[in-house]
Amino acid sequence: MKTLKLFLVFAFAIFAANVSAQQKKYVMVIHGGAGTILKKNMTPEKEAEYVKVLTEALKAGYAKIKDGKTSLDAVEATIHVLENDPHFNAGKGAVFTHDGRNEMDAAIMEGETLMAGAVAGVTTVKNPISAARAVMEKSEHVMMVGAGADLFAKDAGLEIVDPKYFWTKERWDGLQQAIKEDSTKAVLDHGSKKSELLGSKNHDYKFGTVGCVALDKAGNLAAGTSTGGMTNKKYGRVGDAPIIGSGTYCNNETAGISCTGWGEFYIRNVVAKTISDLMEYKGLSVDAASKIAIEKVGKMGGDGGLIALDKKGNMSMPFNTEGMYRGAITADGKIEVSIYK
Ligand code: ASP
Repeated sequence: MKTLKLFLVFAFAIFAANVSAQQKKYVMVIHGGAGTILKKNMTPEKEAEYVKVLTEALKAGYAKIKDGKTSLDAVEATIHVLENDPHFNAGKGAVFTHDGRNEMDAAIMEGETLMAGAVAGVTTVKNPISAARAVMEKSEHVMMVGAGADLFAKDAGLEIVDPKYFWTKERWDGLQQAIKEDSTKAVLDHGSKKSELLGSKNHDYKFGTVGCVALDKAGNLAAGTSTGGMTNKKYGRVGDAPIIGSGTYCNNETAGISCTGWGEFYIRNVVAKTISDLMEYKGLSVDAASKIAIEKVGKMGGDGGLIALDKKGNMSMPFNTEGMYRGAITADGKIEVSIYK
């Protein structure tokens, strides 16, 4: 009898260890854009640069979580690293509009309160994600655009820069290339199946929109997205990133979600809120819901990806492109960074 008891205790311990190994708890997920990102187009040096920045970004957010700070603080700190790095299409490194300007969009949302803030078409705020947070915390509104949003950010005490700060040669060359190919078309900075179908050679696979979802010690989720949008965009075009429910959404009851890809398809499919709804009303897991949403975008002819994290620390990172810059960190600080399929 005693041997049987001992055996049962032992067997249970092994079973429990296996279950916990399978159910890794993630506290943060990030992306740096999805698109035509192929290993054959990447040098080992470039690849190492991406891995380094993505790792730094994860560490910046993780430090906040470990410190007991909020998931909002973690999302903001993480996105600052990515916005300040020219590898990505956000902040420094944002793509150019047809008129040769950098007009940036960003959104942030809190899962506990469903409070949200967004800015679109800002040109002088160094870190648009902080402007989105200021809209959420320091105004009665959810979204501000253009010159008004820039002024609000200045009045809120955020760092304002000369628009020249956002100029990078790669992005400028990308605009000239896009105009040469078809001056009427806006293109994704990192290339896409659709831009290839349209005959575009503008497959600048080096950059991308950025996003982050974090889960803090109090069990609250937050999500944020920041982007320069699409190269050669015109007439004040706004993408999905700052539209709550399309490119960005967060609800503690379901998940935090940040998208990247052909914005118009994400807006028309209300992708982020659809994932949340599939979880809330149909009881789907974060992974099942995220995959359904991406499949729908693909069926309509759009491409891209997304990251999602639920309150229990389950994550999903589906994409229908060749690659997506992405990373995750577990509660015990284990970092995972991937680029290709
Ligand atoms: N979703 C962004 C937009 O359409 C672009 C991107 O993800 O790179 O503005």
